[in-house]
Amino acid sequence: MASARHILIVNSRSVHQPVFVVGAPHSGAGLIGRALKASPGLHVTMGQPSVLRVVYAFARRPSMYQGRTQAAAAVIRDAFAQGWQVTPHSCLECTRECRSAAGLAADAVGPCVEVRGLEKFGDASPDLIYCAEALTYAFPDARIVQVIRDGRDVVTSMLADPVVMSWFRPSFVNVDTEFPNPFFGIESEQDREMWPRLSPAARCALRWRWSVRLAARLHHSLPADQLKTIRYESLLSRPDDTVADLSRFVGTTVSAAEIRDEARTSRQRGRARRPPGPALSTEDASQVDKLAGEELRRLGYAP
Ligand SMILES: [Zn+2]
Repeated sequence: MASARHILIVNSRSVHQPVFVVGAPHSGAGLIGRALKASPGLHVTMGQPSVLRVVYAFARRPSMYQGRTQAAAAVIRDAFAQGWQVTPHSCLECTRECRSAAGLAADAVGPCVEVRGLEKFGDASPDLIYCAEALTYAFPDARIVQVIRDGRDVVTSMLADPVVMSWFRPSFVNVDTEFPNPFFGIESEQDREMWPRLSPAARCALRWRWSVRLAARLHHSLPADQLKTIRYESLLSRPDDTVADLSRFVGTTVSAAEIRDEARTSRQRGRARRPPGPALSTEDASQVDKLAGEELRRLGYAP
């Protein structure tokens, strides 16, 4: 890639092939993030305030950065230069998930990683997917892990998550002022026009569909050694193979314990493909199929 080389130095180490985990909400990106965070030599952050500020700026106002690739890249590099710093209290402001993935107590201040032996940096912040393309400008050697999961399961899980659903509050929705709107998955005039009448399940389906279309775009623009797509379903059905694959991709031995645990729990539930909680109603399922059926079929999730 003929882009200017920017060497980012954090804790006197140059950032080389940073690893980013992206996915639609409830696709399993958090699980992969935790596994990477538990891997020796890898410093993975999740929800550092400096990073979240940028993630939500991109998610909410993508038009601000459109056509301003260099500016966007600089903003992102600055955010990570700050977020990846390891200090005695560097995990203090991270999400609870980040602290617990690091083995810290909820009220512990960190650091969540040993500076000694630290070789690689990464991030698995929630909603990082809305910066995915900009991340590749900011870090031309980035390693992107994208997690995908059956859209019907994703929609079911999103509907049961009050935090995800609170993004659909009228006071938060900006589909009139921001178009196209990746955060809400609105890409065409037709999407925008029908959005006000869509059910909650259909709105979730649009967010999932956008993440799948993004995957296709990333596959076009990135070489295979920079983008790895992982299916949540294979993570649960073949955890060891998937972890081995992931380890080869990120170039370090990824800790398998967390993923094996999750796989075991899901096997015990006896329904590796169905999330806990009620399945979609017939009406919701048909709405999801109408909006995202093509993507579901392309990925082999629907007949
Ligand atoms: Zn942290």
